[in-house]
Amino acid sequence: MLRDLYQEVILDHNRSPRNCHEMDDATSCANGVNPLCGDKLTLYIKVADDKILDISFIGSGCAISTASASLLTDSLKGKSVAEARDLFSKVHASLTEDGSEHVDLGKLAVLLGVKEFPARVKCATLAWHTLVSALDDSGATASTE
Ligand code: ZN
Repeated sequence: MLRDLYQEVILDHNRSPRNCHEMDDATSCANGVNPLCGDKLTLYIKVADDKILDISFIGSGCAISTASASLLTDSLKGKSVAEARDLFSKVHASLTEDGSEHVDLGKLAVLLGVKEFPARVKCATLAWHTLVSALDDSGATASTE
C-alpha cells in the first residue's frame, strides 16, 4: 500500500515534472551526471539575500532521477541556502545510511522507496549533489561516481 503510494508520486513527478525549464536569469547553475544509469541534468537557481527565489532543472534520465529533481525544486523554492544544505544532508543520509529512516523528510519521504533498489539510489541523489554544486558555484560537474 505504502509502496504503491511511493510509486504513484514518483510516476506523477516523472510524467509532469515541476519547474522543468531553463532559467535565463539564474544566479548559478550546475550540471550533474550519473554514469551508472545515464541520467543527466542541469539545475538552475536564483539566489538573493541568501534565499532561493527560483529553482528549476532540465535533463534526461530515468523516472527516479526526474522525479527526484522535480521534488527537489518543489521543496526548495523560497527556502534559505542554509535550509537547502540542511535538506541535502538529511536526504543524502536517509538514502545512503542505514538507521536514518526516522529523519522527517515530509513529502520527500517518497524517495526512500528506492532504498530497496540500491542501484537506483544514485538516481535519487543526483539532483541533490547537483544542487550542492550550484550552491557552491564550483563550476564542476557533479557526478554520483
Ligand atoms: Zn537513473
